[in-house]
Amino acid sequence: MTATETKVIYRDSPTYEQARVGRVFNHRRPKRYPHGVVEATCVQDIINAVQLAKSEKLRVSVRSGGHSWAAWSVRDDAILIDLGKYNFIEYDEETKIAKVSPSTTGRILVEHLSGKGRMFGGGHCPDVGLGGFLLQGGMGWNCKNWGWACEQIAAIDVVTADGTALHCNEQENSDLFWAARGAGPGFPAIVTAFYLKTRESFKAMKNSTFIYPLSEYKVVMDWVQKAAKESDESIEAVAVGIIDPTTQVPRILTSFLCFQQTESAAQASLAHINASHPPGAIMEAVSQPTSLANEYCGQDLANPHSHRYIAENAYIKNDADVTEVLRKAMTTLPEGSKAFTLWFSMYPGSRRELPDMALSMQSDHYMALYTVWEKEEDDQRCREWVTDVMREVERESVGAYLGDSDFQVRKTRFWGTEQGKRLMEVRRKWDPVGRVCGFLDEGDKSGVEGLENVHEWQE
Ligand SMILES: Cc1cc2nc3c(=O)[nH]c(=O)nc-3n(C[C@H](O)[C@H](O)[C@H](O)COP(=O)(O)OP(=O)(O)OC[C@H]3O[C@@H](n4cnc5c(N)ncnc54)[C@H](O)[C@@H]3O)c2cc1C
Repeated sequence: MTATETKVIYRDSPTYEQARVGRVFNHRRPKRYPHGVVEATCVQDIINAVQLAKSEKLRVSVRSGGHSWAAWSVRDDAILIDLGKYNFIEYDEETKIAKVSPSTTGRILVEHLSGKGRMFGGGHCPDVGLGGFLLQGGMGWNCKNWGWACEQIAAIDVVTADGTALHCNEQENSDLFWAARGAGPGFPAIVTAFYLKTRESFKAMKNSTFIYPLSEYKVVMDWVQKAAKESDESIEAVAVGIIDPTTQVPRILTSFLCFQQTESAAQASLAHINASHPPGAIMEAVSQPTSLANEYCGQDLANPHSHRYIAENAYIKNDADVTEVLRKAMTTLPEGSKAFTLWFSMYPGSRRELPDMALSMQSDHYMALYTVWEKEEDDQRCREWVTDVMREVERESVGAYLGDSDFQVRKTRFWGTEQGKRLMEVRRKWDPVGRVCGFLDEGDKSGVEGLENVHEWQE
């Protein structure tokens, strides 16, 4: 098959605009215009798209689930390879490994595996594509205890920047496999399949949630950090600064999601949380039965479609006064917006030695701003709020997670020093001409150099 046999949607096509941004989750749409879009349905389409880009001296960009906040898939001078129509899941009963297409979402994989008594801890938002999610590391369900989702990748299939199909694992093409777990959009090839280790599904999931007025901020934030640290390995813990959608009053919500096999084990795991939560809650839902399907519905409500978004984030230093560092972020959300601020406990996973992979930045505390609004006229106000909050928070951070970052706006560290250097070398080895678009920094200039992996402020 030659490149001409794969359909390319060019800029003069009536379907171009839909192909360019129709699957981009963030409705703050970029003013970047790919040369053409290939809606791949097979590996050959992907190879053909790369060959076409080579012959036309263009770059390639990739889209799996379209959930990159900064729309990294939409790039100038590129052939955009959209994998939305390239779909498969194959589950091997013997190895318990699922081979999935990168466009597969967390929800679709969970639904597929549930009948087999298995699960995979994909993204909290049901429609995030596994492609972008896993390449960044993947802060999936119960990440603090189960580790990064990318640690469950047994192997990948790729098409290289030169258009060659390869298999990669710890033994074969091991440097690409190393990079695939933490390079994010800097991965110098196109993943065509992930081979994922699955885990036993949970028969008893329960959730304890408490909502407090802002007057209780300090007591609640101090408590949630302590309670998360003292929880057993079945519990994921978050605190969220929210705006109550009915009253528009800001609140602090804490939630403890428990993954267990029996009712009694779940009750026992949540007991210390239920008993120790501070008084003064305006809403309590104690040890409520739940399921991943139910949790996905909640995530869908918190992250509505057809809205404008800015995401920002930081790993806060382990020894910081987290309650005070996050006070502004948690308690001054932009009025009238649907924004929320998250603190996510990463302890004890943050204290263990990671496998040898590009992902290498860890701390006990993850914070992220999800600024959500509807109208373009609020863009500047929301952007200014994010910049203002992050200016203070970043000085108490060790770096950030690629998945909730925008390199056009803020520089910071994403990997350990050695891993960051190695990643840029692996990228140059596998893609010396910068065929794959890579990191979208200001002006989209980073190319084969990649990111500096430094804070923009002096330490
Ligand atoms: C509502 C929402 C909720 C989220 N929740 C979570 C969460 O719980 N945990 C978490 O860790 N993250 C979360 N994220 C962040 C999310 O994981 C990232 O935005 C991720 O990049 C999305 O992957 P995608 O495939 O959907 O995005 P895409 O926009 O399709 O891909 C992003 C980029 O990744 C690269 N890429 C994607 N697929 C491939 C491939 N096959 N080969 C090579 N490169 C590829 C490309 O550079 C691409 O531009 C969330 C995002 C949103 C919008």
